Amino acid sequence: MPSVLMDGFGRKIDYVRLSVTDRCDFRCIYCMAENMTFLPRQSILSLEEIERCAKLFVANGVRKIRLTGGEPLTRKGIISLCEKISAIPGLDELVMTTNGSQLTKYAQSLADAGVKRLNISLDSLCPDKFKTMTRTGELQQVLDGIQAARRAGFQRVKINSVIIQGHNDEEILALTDYAVDNQLDITFIEEMPLGHVGRSRDASLFSSDKVRDNIAKHYALLDSSENSGGPARYMRLKDYSHTRIGFISPHTHNFCSTCNRVRLTVEGKLLLCLGNEHSLDMLNLLRDHPTDDAPVLAQVQQALHNKPEEHHFSAEGEVQIVRFMNASGG
Ligand code: SAM
Ligand code: SF4
Repeated sequence: MPSVLMDGFGRKIDYVRLSVTDRCDFRCIYCMAENMTFLPRQSILSLEEIERCAKLFVANGVRKIRLTGGEPLTRKGIISLCEKISAIPGLDELVMTTNGSQLTKYAQSLADAGVKRLNISLDSLCPDKFKTMTRTGELQQVLDGIQAARRAGFQRVKINSVIIQGHNDEEILALTDYAVDNQLDITFIEEMPLGHVGRSRDASLFSSDKVRDNIAKHYALLDSSENSGGPARYMRLKDYSHTRIGFISPHTHNFCSTCNRVRLTVEGKLLLCLGNEHSLDMLNLLRDHPTDDAPVLAQVQQALHNKPEEHHFSAEGEVQIVRFMNASGG
């Protein structure tokens, strides 16, 4: 019998998000504070350690790996890491989440390295608003990156939009139109209260139901039971079969009962739940047992019994988790 990873509630863990860096060229207002201190290079996992973890997880039933961060394309050696991970026997899909700023340079190499799907963050189509939300980003660079990704031959390219009342809630329709016109999927995300980002989140929660209602004024939406192996719920557009509309609703539609995933931060912490602090220090385990995976696996299996049943984000959006999203591996 092949080994599988199971948590204390009988949920099979077959999806791992690996954060390859906490650094980023953007400073999105929901993800980071304006001034951030990043991890010193000596306290992050090496590319070889990340690959070792990927192999260990896949040998124990993980079928999907997402590379994320921080901005994964800022990590030196990322393309060769993708080549190595995508070649691990037993892995069904290697996918990546990126802010798109460097895709004109890297999209084709990523596709050639075996990355099957890309999620690209895009919160606004207005250059000024885009700059305000990312603090440093240039919209045109990301739009060019999205077109490069379309040409590169990924199985799917999906837009991720975090909707924040008073910032980009007026753009829900424009973002949907953009996805439709470019035959892309789009997922709307409710902001999670991770880290002190230097602004109050109290009044800015914009629920997925409100997003859906906005879209429904202009498009005929159809229910769908589709699942891409993550937390999103999907709907289809009646007249535009190329675009799926997804909703990630950590506040209003808790998705914990079907949770199949864990995250490994670039510090080597195995986070058992995005909304809780439970974790296992894998960095020291890996370094204490450089050639033997068995003790590492035993600790991972043990830790999974501490995976919480669910997260509880407060409706007010106040911070309960001090970790920033860039450090968690979104
Ligand atoms: N830098 C890449 C990017 O932006 O796509 C990958 C890392 S980012 C942390 C991954 C995803 O998390 C992005 O889609 C981003 O919009 C989302 N995200 C970041 N902070 C968030 C928060 N506080 N609540 C909800 N989503 C968040
Ligand atoms: Fe960077 Fe992504 Fe966080 Fe924005 S959401 S600051 S692009 S890691």
